[in-house]
Amino acid sequence: MIELNRRVLIGGAAMALSAPMLMTRAAHAQADTSMNIDHAMPPETHRFKVGGFEVLVIKDGARASDKPQETFGTNQTPEAVGELLAANFLPQDKFVNSFAPVLVNTGADVVLFDTGLGPAARAQGGGRLIEGLAAAGYTPEDVTVVVLTHMHGDHIGGLMENGKPTFANARYVTGQAEYDFWVDPARAGTPAENGQKGVLANVKPLAEKMTFVGDGASVVSGITGMAAFGHSPGHMIYMLESDGKSLLLTADTANHFVLSLQKPEWEVRFDMDKAAAAATRKKVFDMLATDRTAFLGYHMPFPAVGFVEKLDTGYRYVPKAYQFDI
Ligand SMILES: [Zn+2]
Repeated sequence: MIELNRRVLIGGAAMALSAPMLMTRAAHAQADTSMNIDHAMPPETHRFKVGGFEVLVIKDGARASDKPQETFGTNQTPEAVGELLAANFLPQDKFVNSFAPVLVNTGADVVLFDTGLGPAARAQGGGRLIEGLAAAGYTPEDVTVVVLTHMHGDHIGGLMENGKPTFANARYVTGQAEYDFWVDPARAGTPAENGQKGVLANVKPLAEKMTFVGDGASVVSGITGMAAFGHSPGHMIYMLESDGKSLLLTADTANHFVLSLQKPEWEVRFDMDKAAAAATRKKVFDMLATDRTAFLGYHMPFPAVGFVEKLDTGYRYVPKAYQFDI
């Protein structure tokens, strides 16, 4: 089933990109109200097993923003977005976006997926990945592989601390298409220019230690990449498989647990190719619903792990309970 659907995903990946739009950190800062959550407490972490793999989810931060309809369902009326939120017991005028980097200890490797907002967000209460790792008994030096699902600021922000690589002993894995897009001089003067600056500062200096991959790539034994383009040009997701258990790290395939899952076709401001992102969303979550496979989405409500049930027009999010504990 997975093999079959991987091929379907490549089809979605082949769609041409049109007028890429990029969320910039500056644009975010204006729209967002920071949430200084429990600053004195260690950040939330959550640990569970997927077969023989230990999975640790870290809450790097969370932000409340106004006007959900200006981010999700941008091709819908504000009333339609508000109605769906209200029907799901959510406020209509604000939403919370949280950030969930994931550490996977396979026994042979310690693989980190995405690096959070990094030092630039600390004053607003974000960038808490390293603190979270420490609370769970890991140091940055323990990380042997850093996987970047894509190169938006909330995923690459933690790669550097004080101009030095945060994860001193790690090699890196990232999508070839993603890297090629962001380092291309053609981004100058486009909406992606600001994002490119982040990539040139945080990612490009590490290129010599990077493996550039595409659909079907093996990161380490039991971790396989799948192309899921659209949110960004080379956005990739990763399947964990160990001892008959599996978990798909869907990164930013869907960015709101109600709006993006119940209405996968609704356009999202952060999706650089909106049509490709919607097509990928449907393919990935159709596969998860059909196979009844669990997933972890970077922006799902912490600890960001759940299942989807197919509805008439989309999917219902069912948060994980004790499925991995017994
Ligand atoms: Zn993101």
